Amino acid sequence: MHTEVDKLYRKLPQLGELLHTREIRELVELYSRELVVDAARESLSRIRQEIRMGQHTEASLNGSVAQLAENIREELAQRVRPSLRRVINATGVILQTNLGRAPLSEDAIRQIGDVARGFCNLEMDLDTGERGFRDRHADSLILDVLALRSGVAVGSLHERRAAAVVNNCAAATFLALNTLAEGGEVIVSRGELVEIGGGFRIPEILRKSGAILREVGTTNRTRIEDYAAALTPDTRLILRVHRSNFRIEGFTQRPTLQELIQFGQSASVPVFEDQGTGCVVALDECGIAGESTWITSAISDAALISASGDKLLGGPQCGILTGDRAFVERIRKNPLFRALRVDKLTYAALQATLLAYLTGRDESIPAIAMLLISADRVRQRCEAYVEALKSSTLRAEIIATSSLVGGGTTPGATLPSFGVRLRHEEISEGTLAARLRQLDLPIIARTSEGGVVLDLRTVAETDDQLVVASLQSAFAPGRALEPAQGNRVAR
Ligand SMILES: *Cc1c(COP(=O)(O)O)cnc(C)c1O
Repeated sequence: MHTEVDKLYRKLPQLGELLHTREIRELVELYSRELVVDAARESLSRIRQEIRMGQHTEASLNGSVAQLAENIREELAQRVRPSLRRVINATGVILQTNLGRAPLSEDAIRQIGDVARGFCNLEMDLDTGERGFRDRHADSLILDVLALRSGVAVGSLHERRAAAVVNNCAAATFLALNTLAEGGEVIVSRGELVEIGGGFRIPEILRKSGAILREVGTTNRTRIEDYAAALTPDTRLILRVHRSNFRIEGFTQRPTLQELIQFGQSASVPVFEDQGTGCVVALDECGIAGESTWITSAISDAALISASGDKLLGGPQCGILTGDRAFVERIRKNPLFRALRVDKLTYAALQATLLAYLTGRDESIPAIAMLLISADRVRQRCEAYVEALKSSTLRAEIIATSSLVGGGTTPGATLPSFGVRLRHEEISEGTLAARLRQLDLPIIARTSEGGVVLDLRTVAETDDQLVVASLQSAFAPGRALEPAQGNRVAR
C-alpha cells in the first residue's frame, strides 16, 4: 500500500523541473519569479495533500499533472487582479456604504489625477512660499457654498463660522465630543441614542471621547424641560443627532434644532449637531419633503455641525465640521485632529465637488444627477434596454420601481423610478443575480418575482451602452451559460 502512494508521489514533478518548463517560464516573464515559484509550490503541495488523503489514482494524478501549468496560470491571474473593482449599481439605492457611496464627478476625478501625478501645494502658501495649512483648500469654499445655497451673505457667514475636514463624519463627531466635552457631561435625547451603521453607536462614541452621557426624555418624546432638568455645573454640551436611517412615527415630540439652540444659549451650553447628510440641494424639488439638510443646520447658531462628504454632498469620503470660529480653532488644536486628517486626494476631490455647487453645476455630481433624473427619462432608457436585449436569451420587461436615496440620509423617502426586469428560462433569479455579479463589469441588482430588476436611476446614463453590450454578450443565443465561478479576493 505504502509503495503505491510512493509511486504516486514520484510521478509529481519537482519544483525545479516545473520551473524549467516552457509554460512556467512564460509565466515568469509575465509576473515575477517569486510569485510564480510561490504559486507553483502551492499547487504541488495541494496535489501532495490530495495524494496523502487517498484522493488520487494513477490516472487522476496524470490528469492533475497535465493541468498543473494551466492551474498555476489561472491562480496567478486571480492573484494579481485588484479585489477593489468598479461595479454597476442597478439597485436603485443611490448611496450605499457597501457600494462605496457617492461616485465622484468627472471634475473631481480629473482634479485627483492632476494632484496625484506630481507634487502639490498641499501645505504651502504659494504667495509667500511659507508653510500653509491644508484645511485652507476647503474651509472657505465650504462656507461659500453653504452661504450661497441658503441665501445668507457670504461675508457674514465667514465672520462667524469656520470649517475643518477630517476622515469621515464619525471622526468629526468623535473629535467634536472629545474637544468640547472630555471629562464633562453631554446631554442627549433617548430618541437619538442611535446606531448609524457599521458599528457607529452614539453612546459608545461618546464614552470613547471621554465624555459622560446624560440621557434625557424617552425614545419617542423629549422636551426642552427634559434638557433643562439635566443641566449640572459639569454640562459641557448638548448633542443632537440626525435620525438618518430610521423614523419615529405616532406619539412623538422633540424640540426643533432652533429651539434647542435657543435653550443652549440661555443656559450657556453649546449645541453640537451630528447632521450627517451633507445635503446642500433642495430636496423638496426632487419630491422629498420634510427632511432636514446640512444647509439649515450650518447657517444656524449651533456651535458645531458634522456632516459626511460622501453622502448627499456627492464628494469623497470625509467628515466636515462647521461652526463657531473659536470652536473650530479648538478642534484644529486637538492632537487627534492630526491623526484624523485627510490626504491631498480628498482635498482635490472635495474642492472640485464644492466648486460644482458654487458654479451651479449640481448635475455634474453623479449622486445629484441620480436624484434629479426624471422617472420619464429613466423609463425611456429602460425601453432602449428592452429593445436591445431582444436578441439575447434574457426576457426583459419594464416595471415601475421605487428608488431610495439611502446611505443614512433620508429614511423612508422614495423616488418613483423604472427598472428592467430580466428573467432567464434556464436559471433562477438568484443564479441570474450571481451571474450578473460575476461579469467582468459586475452588475449589482435586486431580485424580484422570479427575475432580477435593474433600476436605471442609479446607473449612469453614460454606462448604458457598456451595460447593454455586456448583457448581450453574456447572454448571446447559443452561448453556454458559464457555471458560476467564485470571485476570489486577491490575497
Ligand atoms: C452617516 C452618518 C454618520 C457617519 O458618517 P461617516 O461619514 O460614514 O463616518 C454619522 N452621523 C450621522 C447622523 C450620519 O448620518
